[in-house]
Amino acid sequence: MATSTVPDLVTPTWEYAPAPEARDIVTIRSNYGLFIGGRWVDTVDGSSFKTIKPATEEDLAEVQSASARDVDRAVKAARTAFTRWSQRTGAERGKYLYRIARLVQERARELAVLESLDNGKPIKESRDVDLPLVAAHFFHYAGWADKLDWAGLGPDPRPLGVAGQIIPWNFPLLMLAWKIAPALACGNTIVLKPAETTPLTALAFADICAQADLPPGVVNIVTGAGETGHALVNHRGVDKIAFTGSTEVGKEIQRSLAGTDTHLTLELGGKAANIVFDDAPIDQAIEGIVNGIFFNQGHVCCAGSRLLVQESVHDAVIAKLKRRLGTLHLGDPLDKNTDIGAINSAAQLARIKELVSVGEAEGGQRWQPVCPLPAKGFWFAPTLFTNVGQSSRIAREEIFGPVLSVLTFRTPEEAIAKANNTPYGLSAGVWTEKGSRILWMANRLKAGVVWANTFNRFDPTSPFGGYKESGFGREGGRHGLAAYLHAGGG
Ligand code: NDP
Repeated sequence: MATSTVPDLVTPTWEYAPAPEARDIVTIRSNYGLFIGGRWVDTVDGSSFKTIKPATEEDLAEVQSASARDVDRAVKAARTAFTRWSQRTGAERGKYLYRIARLVQERARELAVLESLDNGKPIKESRDVDLPLVAAHFFHYAGWADKLDWAGLGPDPRPLGVAGQIIPWNFPLLMLAWKIAPALACGNTIVLKPAETTPLTALAFADICAQADLPPGVVNIVTGAGETGHALVNHRGVDKIAFTGSTEVGKEIQRSLAGTDTHLTLELGGKAANIVFDDAPIDQAIEGIVNGIFFNQGHVCCAGSRLLVQESVHDAVIAKLKRRLGTLHLGDPLDKNTDIGAINSAAQLARIKELVSVGEAEGGQRWQPVCPLPAKGFWFAPTLFTNVGQSSRIAREEIFGPVLSVLTFRTPEEAIAKANNTPYGLSAGVWTEKGSRILWMANRLKAGVVWANTFNRFDPTSPFGGYKESGFGREGGRHGLAAYLHAGGG
């Protein structure tokens, strides 16, 4: 009797009883001010905007919009605080960072619920990935604060001064931690602008700074839209800009700072190749592919959004992948069963829909599992595109949504050529049982991070950052300190 290489493909239908996380663990104020100089203050011109719950489009809170004059106040507060903060011993600064780390742990459930409400991401991700990593980053850099002389960055490394930090909406609190923890450990003071659509966990973090007795002005949080970020970038009292977001805005910031002595690091977009060889453990690879692109609805700069499959296993991989996608549970972000939450905003949903239409028009074959979408809110079903050409926009542009483009290759050389055929260079994944092949591939892939037989793994000890249009500078680990220090006593 002939045996099939593809196992039974009947998609199991699971009935889930609702398992909602308690919403009332978090108290959201109706109005938030700006956090400047250790106090909540109003904007000088009184303008504000609403932040909403993307899963239902309900209003969550009114948040103030910082003008250039408010940014100036925040930068001045950070400058005033810098003198004393930078003169504290590393051990003293570390003490505050440990305190913040412990407070994040104590308030982890509340912060996870708040993140899922404001961002739309599943609670199991905010609870099990974002929050543990946030605390881990503060613990990690707390440990570095008194060891900067031994970080290999030259003798007597000194802080840069006031750091302006601009973060996106996909990992609001985690991106804050990636930026604030090393900057504080190195003795800098901070003005941080969260994304317009996800300001609430940054505002909760301001409360944590107050709870930790962090000296006033060491961390300042200014909410607002792109203009607030623009004002921060163009404030000449800022010594360093750290930006995570789109390549387009990153380029604009780089142009603005050209010829100035402001330090700059940019963490921008990506179009990572997740490469599956025919000797890979296929079931494990399927989990890695799913985690690579459907984690956080694909709102991940290093998402494995291009699947490169060796031709001989293409059909088997696609069949198994379809079966697995049929089991993903889309819905209420606060439900602990949810795998795919809401898209963060109407604008992002429109961008995903536009690129998906382009993908179809360019000849890609779109496939989605049966997946009812809630009537209200911003939702997009997990989507697979086969028959994708390398020149297709869905193979080249960052979609930043739950959409996977599949391409094939025959030889390792072809896999490298296709993987590197992108203006980006942030991350890549390789699935094979051969260690020698992993090393061969890793040496040739032009990406800041290469995962082997796994994907989307993060650790505070490991540097993260890109090449080419994915930006420059590293966050995380010892390397992350260099972004906030004058090395070698210079
Ligand atoms: P942006 O790059 O516009 O936003 C990132 C941050 O920069 C936000 O805080 C934003 O504020 C701020 N900002 C916007 N304009 C300026 C400016 N001129 N000067 C300084 N700061 C500014 O990303 P979007 O949110 O618009 O997303 C667009 C696309 O970017 C996505 O579809 C995705 O492809 C990509 N993206 C990539 C990210 C990554 O991690 N690589 C993260 C986010 C988006 P505000 O939010 O208030 O506009």
